[in-house]
Amino acid sequence: MFDKILIANRGEIACRVAATCARLAIKTVAVYSDADAGAAHVGACDEAVHIGGSAPKDSYLLGERIIQAALDTGAQAIHPGYGFLSENAGFAQACADAGLVFIGPPAAAIQAMGLKAESKQLMARAGVPLVPGYHGADQDPALLQREADAIGYPVLIKASAGGGGKGMRVVDSAPDFAAALASCQREASSSFGNTAVLVEKYVQRPRHIEVQVFGDSHGNVVHLFERDCSVQRRHQKVLEEAPAPGMTEALRQQMGAAAVAAARAVHYVGAGTVEFIVEQDDAGRMDFFFMEMNTRLQVEHPVTEAITGLDLVEWQLRVAAGEPLPLAQSDLQITGHAIEARICAETPDQQFLPATGSLQVFALPAHVAFTRGAVRVDTGVRAGDVVSPFYDPMLAKLIVHGATRAQALARMDQALSQLHAVGVATNVQFLRHVLQSPSFAQAQLDTALIGRESAVLFQQERVGLPLAVAACVAQTLRAEAALQTADPFSRRDGWRAYGELVRRFAFEFHGEAVEANLRYLHDGLLQLAVGDTTGPLQWEASGEGADGMVLQFAGQRQTVDFYQNGPVAHIHTAQGATQIIVINPFAQATAVHATAGRLTAPMPGRLVAFAVQVGATVTQGQPLAVMEAMKMEHTIAAPGDGIVAELLFAPGDQVAEGAELLRLEANA
Ligand code: ADP
Ligand code: ADP
Ligand code: MG
Repeated sequence: MFDKILIANRGEIACRVAATCARLAIKTVAVYSDADAGAAHVGACDEAVHIGGSAPKDSYLLGERIIQAALDTGAQAIHPGYGFLSENAGFAQACADAGLVFIGPPAAAIQAMGLKAESKQLMARAGVPLVPGYHGADQDPALLQREADAIGYPVLIKASAGGGGKGMRVVDSAPDFAAALASCQREASSSFGNTAVLVEKYVQRPRHIEVQVFGDSHGNVVHLFERDCSVQRRHQKVLEEAPAPGMTEALRQQMGAAAVAAARAVHYVGAGTVEFIVEQDDAGRMDFFFMEMNTRLQVEHPVTEAITGLDLVEWQLRVAAGEPLPLAQSDLQITGHAIEARICAETPDQQFLPATGSLQVFALPAHVAFTRGAVRVDTGVRAGDVVSPFYDPMLAKLIVHGATRAQALARMDQALSQLHAVGVATNVQFLRHVLQSPSFAQAQLDTALIGRESAVLFQQERVGLPLAVAACVAQTLRAEAALQTADPFSRRDGWRAYGELVRRFAFEFHGEAVEANLRYLHDGLLQLAVGDTTGPLQWEASGEGADGMVLQFAGQRQTVDFYQNGPVAHIHTAQGATQIIVINPFAQATAVHATAGRLTAPMPGRLVAFAVQVGATVTQGQPLAVMEAMKMEHTIAAPGDGIVAELLFAPGDQVAEGAELLRLEANA
């Protein structure tokens, strides 16, 4: 076994490989770009080498520099992860030439499977079933059109060198073919530097079922069962599970045998995935066809780990070190059901636009490392990290395992409800909607699922305005109470010096202005009115986080996790999550008046209380004082950071508009 390896990747997969190495007492070397100097994967490894600029072409795709880093640090092997150089035959060969072990298949196997058209010809010879289509070298547009006509529409044009869901065009009828071909070739040329395409039958509502294979250098090849990856957007996987729902033992054996035959045909060594497209008829009959082989570890390998109890990275390391496969086919079995969700920085409601920003909060559900834990999280980011535009938007993977699919599904939904990201948009709520959709819940899986269920997936709101407002109001009162015992609003014992009061709050929810009124009743109760919803508001602290509470309002009792990011409040409940903008109509006026370090009254009225004492260090936005005007109460917030130097009025005093209330000094 190796003493030290270099991990030529970043993000969750680099962290995941490092974790197995740590368990096996193998030292690890990270490589990193400018943007990743402080990234999680650097900390996860024993050593780290800076290899260049932030763009992948200036760092993670620089094979020569990475090989030099391995040689300089005394690493014996390179794990490429997925993406980047993982399927680059030239890089695999360069590693071998430099005396390093490439933890992956031989360069020749990568080459043989690298182009979809050539690999399909090879598979045809190995007796693996193919989608009817044209995979030839002649790329004459007239010939391609004739082939498409012969296959029958709709057809799919695919860039032979394509990957990651790019370089594909569906053509519905003959007159559209020429334009689609030209556009596919343009994308193929710019993305993959190779204009060759293949044309095949476009299978309607297919399933994507793939088989994990493993070979060793002693000629053994096994399969580790299948994964269903049918839930896709833009031909990219969103949710993956194992085993595939509805799979029969007979079909599993046939597909497994076909996958092993595919691997044997290219003398495969290491971890690989043979992807099949599966056509399903109304009677439930399934026909499978070879689509492509990915000659690397797959993003969704953890679901296979969960149902087999194996660590596939450990297998990769053992095989690369020359050991035989740890288990034979007859030793392998499936236990339970596993589902993986890809947590991506993106906005599903805006065509899945990738999102960037600073992750203020990244709270994860309780989880365990590796294989057969009920909940596993593989992540490469931490709270405080910046999500940059340079790399893949996948932040983390959530993997759950259960005795049955229903149990795994329930666990996944719960785990997603406990994953809280603030500062960068994610697809977490969208994933919950997919899980809860009738198609997914009933395992009616196919690649059209997201389109079919779009009415319940997009533009959904499961928290609702009254609860969102109630959470913000409760949180404001809690913050004030924590700041100052003299604040009368922290008292819920009925004490009131001057009768019933109303305090007004303003918000923006889904672009609409919203007002809420909080009434302090004589008996110490709080009555909240939001639109048509009026009722008593109550809460108690809960959860580990300081911002957790159990909230009661409008007939609901909900556990709420609350995060404030600038003016945006993030509210998480078991049902879902939402955001609401908290508006303090006087904050701006105050800020203008306070430029000289003075905090002045924005309107005439009575000073109810100061929320701070002399000497207190305050931060921008923190409530400093409460004023009453026209029977309404207004919180006056700090216009900036500072130290309270002097309080210039006493509670109960009448103050004129513009009167200076307190003096703030800059922080030392
Ligand atoms: P899977 O491992 O399930 O096939 P993807 O298809 O999403 O997952 O690919 C894994 C990663 O590799 C993703 O980060 C994707 O962007 C990247 N990737 C896959 N193929 C290519 C390619 N040909 N060129 C560039 N990146 C690719
Ligand atoms: P990539 O290298 O980008 O992963 P694939 O050949 O694996 O390309 O195809 C990606 C996805 O496109 C598949 O998972 C499937 O959803 C869809 N797809 C591929 N071939 C077909 C086909 N012949 N008919 C219908 N859908 C297809
Ligand atoms: Mg694929």
